[in-house]
Amino acid sequence: MVRVYLHEVTKIFGKNVVALDKVELEVRSGEFMVVMGPSGHGKTTLLRVVAGLEEPTDGEVWIGDTLVASPRKGIFIPPKDRNVGMVFQNWALYPHMKVFDNIAFPLRIKKLPKSEIEKKVREIAEVLGIAETLDRYPRQLSGGQQQRVAIARALVKEPQVLLMDEPFSNLDARIRVTARAFVKDIQKKLGITTILVTHDPADALTLADRIAVLRRGVIQQIGLPSEIYDKPVNVFVANFIGDINLFDGSIVGKGNEVYFDGGDVKVQLPQNINVQGNGSVILGIRPEDVVLSKEVISNNNDLIYVGKGTVEISEFAGGKFNVMVKLQSTEVKVVSSTSFGLGEPVHVYFNSRKIKIFDKQ
Ligand code: ADP
Ligand code: MG
Repeated sequence: MVRVYLHEVTKIFGKNVVALDKVELEVRSGEFMVVMGPSGHGKTTLLRVVAGLEEPTDGEVWIGDTLVASPRKGIFIPPKDRNVGMVFQNWALYPHMKVFDNIAFPLRIKKLPKSEIEKKVREIAEVLGIAETLDRYPRQLSGGQQQRVAIARALVKEPQVLLMDEPFSNLDARIRVTARAFVKDIQKKLGITTILVTHDPADALTLADRIAVLRRGVIQQIGLPSEIYDKPVNVFVANFIGDINLFDGSIVGKGNEVYFDGGDVKVQLPQNINVQGNGSVILGIRPEDVVLSKEVISNNNDLIYVGKGTVEISEFAGGKFNVMVKLQSTEVKVVSSTSFGLGEPVHVYFNSRKIKIFDKQ
């Protein structure tokens, strides 16, 4: 397997649509990298640049030891010579071709002998569990099966790199879970270097070895799913990967006594939190990192007291409760394992290890 390396890749459409802005991304050999970002922020462009369907405006694209694109050096290797398989967002199956012919298509372009095509198509169909569908047309398949056909077609020529563009967006929520597990399993089995792009944090958190977060064509952060979730570098990343309470305020005090003062939400910060100056900041805490208790909790050093609040909403969400607590006039979202009565007074704590302080941008 090979690594994929984008070095300061910029792609500008027309005069000034900057789809990718100095993207620096190394996908290790055999790694499953998920690039995540909102719609229109450059995800598809990134994949197309790797596949060779777009030429970067600047920067370098490496696949293994081969420089496949570098405008400055006048290098551009076309898609067919890149040994990359791509699964498009809409799967792009040929409706008038049977499944067999859809999968065989890339091999026929390569002009492989008929017997070899037959063998390879049947092999990959077996691996993906769609051997019994080879004689059918795409419209006769379920969404999940159609997706597997698209994946089979991308994999049949044994590419070194697999690119997947929002592969689950056409599947309904229930199939999505199975489809994700399937994609993860295939990727691990084949050990193929993979880049999957998505706007769905659930895809990223469940599939990725590492996640790269893209905002307006700029990589914000690259890290393990747990790092992106627990140590996001800014409010954008924090908000995008999962639900979070955000409070405006400022840092006051110094030495051992540093506080976040956000009016209704005032907490003493743990000493390991790195804050500079007395500037205005944003405090972030995820709903599951807020603890509610009817009694005062005195025996837990990880919890920081925030204040007394009142339960406004408490709804059952399957094995947990989504609770809204009001601290004076500030609402705090909480995910709790126990239920609370409406109007009930509670003590509110934050898990000190999970408090995030962001610069105001
Ligand atoms: P995403 O996949 O994250 O939704 P895209 O990579 O498709 O985002 O698009 C990024 C930006 O580049 C958008 O502003 C989009 O309108 C623009 N863009 C993408 N492809 C083209 C193109 N062929 N011509 C002009 N603008 C484009
Ligand atoms: Mg896209």
